[in-house]
Amino acid sequence: MKTTCERFLDYVRWNTCSDEQSQTVPSTPGQIDFAKYLTEELKALGIEDVRLDDKGYIYGSLPANVDGDIPTIGFIAHLDTSEAHPSVTKAPRIIENYDGGIITLESGMTIDPDVTVKLADCKGQTLIVTDGYTLLGGDDKAGIAEIVTALEYLLTHPDVKHGKVAFSFTPDEEIGTSQDNFNVEAFGADFAYTIDGGSFGEIDFENFFAATAMVKIKGVTTHPGEAKNQMKNASLIAMEYDHLLPPWERPEHTEGYEGFYHLDTISGDCENCTMAYLIREHDKEKFDGRKETMEKASEFLNDRYGEGTVTVEISESYRNMAEIVRPHMHIVDNAREAIRQLGVEPVTSPIRGGTDGAELSYKGVPCPNIGTGSFNHHSVTEVASVDQMEKCTHLVIKILEKYA
Ligand SMILES: [Zn+2]
Repeated sequence: MKTTCERFLDYVRWNTCSDEQSQTVPSTPGQIDFAKYLTEELKALGIEDVRLDDKGYIYGSLPANVDGDIPTIGFIAHLDTSEAHPSVTKAPRIIENYDGGIITLESGMTIDPDVTVKLADCKGQTLIVTDGYTLLGGDDKAGIAEIVTALEYLLTHPDVKHGKVAFSFTPDEEIGTSQDNFNVEAFGADFAYTIDGGSFGEIDFENFFAATAMVKIKGVTTHPGEAKNQMKNASLIAMEYDHLLPPWERPEHTEGYEGFYHLDTISGDCENCTMAYLIREHDKEKFDGRKETMEKASEFLNDRYGEGTVTVEISESYRNMAEIVRPHMHIVDNAREAIRQLGVEPVTSPIRGGTDGAELSYKGVPCPNIGTGSFNHHSVTEVASVDQMEKCTHLVIKILEKYA
């Protein structure tokens, strides 16, 4: 049997960087190459039900080895890595028995436990880092290695009882399109976990409600010398609009459950000005309140400058999975209990963004996220903890045992 670490080191050799500019699915051929390799590995392990579709999605399952009315539990990880940095690490470095100090990478870059708080928790563990020029790819090759190793463990330990186990490995998570082509029926799970990002022990099921508001301002231009009582400067009205929103409710002033308005782009002149705002909030009522505030700000300015001066178009992007997960809290509680049994106190914090699990939850499969034991993602200072990755492999097995 291969260890989680051996698999991880094997998987990070593959360049599976996704590409936001690409028009193809998956966005890069490297993801298909890796998906084919992984499919062969799963088949070689003796898993009969493994399917790779033409879009690069792997679906599969292990049959139950015990009778009873047991829900099918699924596990998901993503094949791609971020395009933030070159993605293939040539020489991952293994640090045994980490001493808790500053790690200096080959490039001269350092990882400081005073800055990276999660690193301070890793004293005594075996860590994997890069040379400081590339990503490691722990996001999300760690998740894949953990799921595959857990599947192999179940196949070789028939004494471990479990219901039907579903799994899926998906492309293009990093560019936000992996759920577009995800086939819920092919996946076949009743409940699922994404295993993606963060330290071992993290279990998250709350994310933002998100919307984009396009604010368009129509001004009136004249020769500046003859502008009195005629000119309406769209760019200045845009500034007035922004001043009607509370300045302390911006990303740079908020954390935890606090929502915000984020002026993402602005472009304009005297005649026209367009602003795109991101609205983010964990609480549904407050989220609706934010949308209302944006509408009211436009009404106020239309009273001042004339009907049609300001228009606001709001489109929702994603929703907080908590409202779907809460009626099925066993999916969170069982994971928490299993984390405790592995000697770690579970940590739940609100995700200040969206997750694939959120979309999947709204498609009918409640799907919290579990941390993989790697962190500093999308950075050349990425770290994966071998100890934590191995615990995560055991977590997958323990969760399945609980449902059986
Ligand atoms: Zn990820």
